[in-house]
Amino acid sequence: MNAGPSPIRYLLGLVLALVVAIAGGSNPVHAQAADRESVLTALKQTATERSFDIRMEFVGTPHAKLILLRNPNRIAIDLFDTVSALDALDPQPNDFVSDMRQGLVAADRYRIIFTLARPGLPQADIATTEEGSVLTLKIVASDIGAFLAADPSRTIGAAPEPAVPSSAATVPDRSYTVVVDPGHGGVDNGAVGKQGTLEKEVNLAFAKALRDALGKNDHIEVRLTREDDRFVSLSDRSDIAREAKADIFISMHADSIRYPDIRGATVYTLSERASDQLSREIAESENSADRFVDPEWEKGEPEVFDILIELMRRETDSFSQHFAAGLVQELGRHKIRLIRNPQRAAGFKVLTAPDVPSVLVELGYLSNVDDEELLLDESWREDTANAIADAVVGFLSAGASGDKAATAPIPTTGG
Ligand SMILES: [Zn+2]
Repeated sequence: MNAGPSPIRYLLGLVLALVVAIAGGSNPVHAQAADRESVLTALKQTATERSFDIRMEFVGTPHAKLILLRNPNRIAIDLFDTVSALDALDPQPNDFVSDMRQGLVAADRYRIIFTLARPGLPQADIATTEEGSVLTLKIVASDIGAFLAADPSRTIGAAPEPAVPSSAATVPDRSYTVVVDPGHGGVDNGAVGKQGTLEKEVNLAFAKALRDALGKNDHIEVRLTREDDRFVSLSDRSDIAREAKADIFISMHADSIRYPDIRGATVYTLSERASDQLSREIAESENSADRFVDPEWEKGEPEVFDILIELMRRETDSFSQHFAAGLVQELGRHKIRLIRNPQRAAGFKVLTAPDVPSVLVELGYLSNVDDEELLLDESWREDTANAIADAVVGFLSAGASGDKAATAPIPTTGG
């Protein structure tokens, strides 16, 4: 998605590779095709009681990635610089895979998706042959817990040759962008504490503390969606993250709820269905921030939900969940108080950028008097900001935000 070859030029290249592959007949086509382009020429399926096996044959050897997408649960294989010579894919009768699809998800990336009929874990490998290469995918039965806990993304086979023409690959010392979003602002105060604390002020002070904590790492650039007390609409906030091509978007909040005893931090990700009633209420209350938006602004916003955005969305969701899990862990490690079941999900509008892993953190609840005190405490703020910064560094170092982060691990700054 960074500056790469233009899609048209890329497609032309692939068509050419395909023509070469077909015209080549029995010749060792792979020697003639440009070395970074592969063609998927066959896909064979074998269903057994214990597994569903796929064998894909290629001219050339693709750089391939395995991705787990949740809810609905799917297994995807991304093939970089690869074109498919196959017609529509249909699964033969089996217990594991109910649907198969293929399509381009980015200029340089072809994806095949297997929708799971029951939880299953993939084993994948790639081997070179005389003709090119063979990628095998074996889906074996598992329980849902194992599927949800599995690594959401990994490279198939040995570490790839730097054949991917991604601009990131040529920039060893890449930097990362984190967009921090202090919730509310301007006409929208957010929640108000028992002592009169305004949520919008707590959020802004915290966002600045987090910027300082993240700023200790030279590889991380931080942008705030607002630097002062002003109103920013929810869609503008996520647009800022998209335009910055952010690796992570973190929205900071400290809301008020109708249970004065509930306190502690919560990490939310986006979900069409709320994980619980409290999450649903919080999302409704956060989304109502846009009641301050002039309705004219929101009119005619296009509902561009084609399949490619939908696919990107699912992948981003799984990175967001991965980050949220790491964040909850870091907060715990830093002894920051958490609510029960601190990782939750609901339909937060501000988290809807389809291509930026996004979380919303309720730092605490202004409806609780002890939390209100903590939220104003500078040393608590610093500790919590450090915990979040550690989680960000861990996430980016693991290359978990996708291809963009897959190059150099970023050095930790410690502390
Ligand atoms: Zn809020």
